[in-house]
Amino acid sequence: MRVLEQIGYYFCAVIILILLGFGYYFICSKIDIIVWNNGICSQCQEGHYHFINGGGYGSRYYYQCDNCDYAISFATCPQHK
Ligand SMILES: [Zn+2]
Repeated sequence: MRVLEQIGYYFCAVIILILLGFGYYFICSKIDIIVWNNGICSQCQEGHYHFINGGGYGSRYYYQCDNCDYAISFATCPQHK
C-alpha cells in the first residue's frame, strides 16, 4: 500500500506541474496579445513591429517598431497568432 500511495503522490505532483505549465503559457500568451497590440507600435501608434531576434528554446522573441525603434519581447510567438 505504501508504494501505491507514493505513486499516487508523484502522479498528483506531475499533474500539478503540467497544469502550472499550461497556466503559465496561457497567461503569457494573453499578456503577449496585449503587448503585441495587433502589430501596431504602442509608443508611436504608427509603426509596425517586425521580428529582430530570439526564438531559441527557452528564450524570448524580440520585436522592434520600424518607425521609432521601440522594442518589445514575448514569451510566445505572436507572429503565429
Ligand atoms: Zn513606434
